[in-house]
Amino acid sequence: MTTPATQTDLQIPAGVPDRIRHYIDGRFVDSVGGETFGVLEPTTNTVYVEAAAGQAVDVDAAVAAARRAFESGPWPGMKNRERARVLNRIADAVEAQDTVLARLESFDTGLPITQAAGQARRAAENFRFFADLIVAGADDAYKVPGMQMNYVDRSPVGVAGLITPWNTPFMLESWKLAPALAAGCTVVLKPAEFTPLSASLWATIFAEAGLPEGVFNLVNGIGEEAGDALVKHPGVDLISFTGETTTGQLIFANAAPTLKGLSMELGGKSPAIIFPDADLEAALDSTLFGVFSLNGERCTASSRILVHRSIYDDFVARYVQRAKNIKVGPPADPTTEVGALVHPEHYERVMGYVQAGKHEATLAAGGTRPAHLPQGNYLAPTVFIDVPPTARIFQEEIFGPVVAITPFDNDAHAVELANNTKYGLAAYIWTRDLRRAHTVAAQVQAGMVWINSHNVRDLRSPFGGIKASGLGHEGGYRSLDFYTQQKAVHITLGDVHTARFGATGYNPDDPYFATKNLQA
Ligand code: NAD
Repeated sequence: MTTPATQTDLQIPAGVPDRIRHYIDGRFVDSVGGETFGVLEPTTNTVYVEAAAGQAVDVDAAVAAARRAFESGPWPGMKNRERARVLNRIADAVEAQDTVLARLESFDTGLPITQAAGQARRAAENFRFFADLIVAGADDAYKVPGMQMNYVDRSPVGVAGLITPWNTPFMLESWKLAPALAAGCTVVLKPAEFTPLSASLWATIFAEAGLPEGVFNLVNGIGEEAGDALVKHPGVDLISFTGETTTGQLIFANAAPTLKGLSMELGGKSPAIIFPDADLEAALDSTLFGVFSLNGERCTASSRILVHRSIYDDFVARYVQRAKNIKVGPPADPTTEVGALVHPEHYERVMGYVQAGKHEATLAAGGTRPAHLPQGNYLAPTVFIDVPPTARIFQEEIFGPVVAITPFDNDAHAVELANNTKYGLAAYIWTRDLRRAHTVAAQVQAGMVWINSHNVRDLRSPFGGIKASGLGHEGGYRSLDFYTQQKAVHITLGDVHTARFGATGYNPDDPYFATKNLQA
């Protein structure tokens, strides 16, 4: 349990508003009924601000504004080059506020400040990338010589509902906002209730960059209230969701009656496979970073490490020693490597897994709150070894600084263990053997594979998971495909070849019937 702190313990950084509001049709507003919820700061677990708690009526207003902006505003019909200019101005503004954004993000989420700074830069990059993509984009056109020409007429889908999680909130919002806006959609964003602080910054950044009113709308609130109303709203054309697998399943069902387009980025339990011929020092660096950066609250965390038995003892000894040296501390301290978990509810959940793990495997590091941090959601980097594949800590997503290490005997065994969960988001392979690397990459069930690397992604490549980790892939032009309609237009070249129903009656000698018209 965490010790409650008083509000006076808390240093609230500059830039935190007196209240977090919705942003609808170009204005910051409270909930129509005045509902709010308290937002906690994760090193003290005190409420540092009240946020508007959106209800169905607030979602209605946001969707109506987005619909108006889509039907009668300039944004969807603007030339790609003009939209790209706005997106580039947004990127400039995000970059210019890098330090402020990082400070607010770190304060709200508990992420170490040095890692939050990277998030703001990456968010800006997303806008630049999609600005370039829409200007350079090409579409399919096909010709059947002398008969037909076909081309794709691309247009924005409409009103996009964007629902995002609390880990790296600003950056993950940019993943959805940038392609949705680039495509010409109008949007309603529902950020995670644990971390609503940074989302409000978009409103000012967008307005100053020249995004027309009503194109971006923000409704804060609880998932089961504001999120649910957005998913079920008949005026919303698609939902892009990132979050837990169980929430994704519920959203999938709730979106069915209104037949919305869905993109789902869900949970993960990604394996890192360390073969005996790997560069062990590099593999150590990468697998430590992979699960302990971002406090382990990372969907693609390498939270299961599978190590060949011939190097197992050596790898484990070095891994445990490094894990024990990781600096856990206040998120605002630039030397901190692991900060505070986002929320006491989440902290209790992670600690529940740590307790379960003690009965399932051998605890080799961590497993408790560090002694020098008596309050707040802190957990020392936790390493379980000799973890059997039947253990919950091997099978279930923990989403904290907790790793499970398991030995394997040969390549087939490694692949079998890697695939032995319901998830299929990422996989990491460490080997110098080219043939083994590609063979295992092909056999592992994951949407994304990194060979001799942690999670570093070229924005052009697809992002997404398989199995319980997601539906559909975003990233690069795939994101634009999701946010656009692709209408196929077919044009006859030369003569029109139509069966002449009712004109002459059936005449088997009629060349139309004889030769041309009975084709599919
Ligand atoms: P969550 O599912 O609890 O919440 C995500 C969002 O959904 C929040 O905004 C929440 O308010 C909203 N929500 C909750 N219930 C809802 C409902 N019934 N209807 C509509 N919206 C609802 O997830 P979280 O705890 O915020 O985030 C952590 C999870 O996100 C982890 O499982 C992690 O793996 C996953 N994640 C996945 C990716 C990816 O790209 N695959 C990236 C980041 C995080």
